[in-house]
Amino acid sequence: MVVSSPVLLGEGPHWDDVEQALYFVDIKSHSINRLKVSTGEQTQAVIDGTSVDFVVPIWQKPGLFLVAVGLNVSEVEWSGEDIEGPLFGKPMASVDSDKPDNRFNDGKVDPSGRLWGGTMGPEPEVGHVVPRQGSLYSFESSPKGGINVKMHLTGVDISNGLVWTSDNSTMYYIDTGTDRVDALDFDIVTGEISNRRPAFDFTGHNVTGHPDGMTIDTDGNLWVACFGGSQVIYVDPREDELLGRIILPAERVTSVAFGGRNLDVLYVTTSRFGLTPEQLAEQPNAGSVFAVTGLGVKGLPGQSAISLT
Ligand code: ZN
Repeated sequence: MVVSSPVLLGEGPHWDDVEQALYFVDIKSHSINRLKVSTGEQTQAVIDGTSVDFVVPIWQKPGLFLVAVGLNVSEVEWSGEDIEGPLFGKPMASVDSDKPDNRFNDGKVDPSGRLWGGTMGPEPEVGHVVPRQGSLYSFESSPKGGINVKMHLTGVDISNGLVWTSDNSTMYYIDTGTDRVDALDFDIVTGEISNRRPAFDFTGHNVTGHPDGMTIDTDGNLWVACFGGSQVIYVDPREDELLGRIILPAERVTSVAFGGRNLDVLYVTTSRFGLTPEQLAEQPNAGSVFAVTGLGVKGLPGQSAISLT
């Protein structure tokens, strides 16, 4: 079911359990968006900058968000209402200073409140990304003052799909260019990751589309958006097993998050950016958020970030 009006390139859905609202970004109009699901009210604020790649609320600071803007992590104050004219974020940290044409892509907060965000290379044309230019970082305020920016992975094509298991032992990660979901050992105290290994291979399972954003359910199974595949697949990453798929009326499926009062609704973001007029006529709701119900599973609410100040 379509639950929002379309944006250009919807991404990064985050379920705010307190507000009962879904936050997401439109990378191409560089806006942050809020969907109040009980009323359907959809509001938007454009952020000054070149791209807006993820948004997460800051823990116990209502109206304050960490937003990826280009290559900066910025703190943004937003009432949640429609805003005329751009909001200006306060840059807190920046990455990839040697690669100014890169931009942030997907970001998430780990179970301890630590922000993670990855980058990708420039796109000379739609659908082509200069490979191996991206990296994966984490951000946390340092006990000595300032912000500790840690690079964990580099040589990444398109950084995507971060989730953690409920026992905090494992992080799952997607570099879209590998067509795989990988597992890594995760240390919640130090924030270190290690022992990267394949967990689910799109090519080996003949999955249509490329892995983009993902989320995890309370059974430990993964729900993976398939960009270019008109579907979300669900997989058991411990068994390298494809459990099923949900077909969507939009080809470019970008990311997923569980939400709703019982955390049993799967919200799916999609893109209309770069589609031809013919494709848009065939998939008029491309770019909208879709809600999928009746799945019989539950997820976890979006994790808000510990303030970087
Ligand atoms: Zn993505």
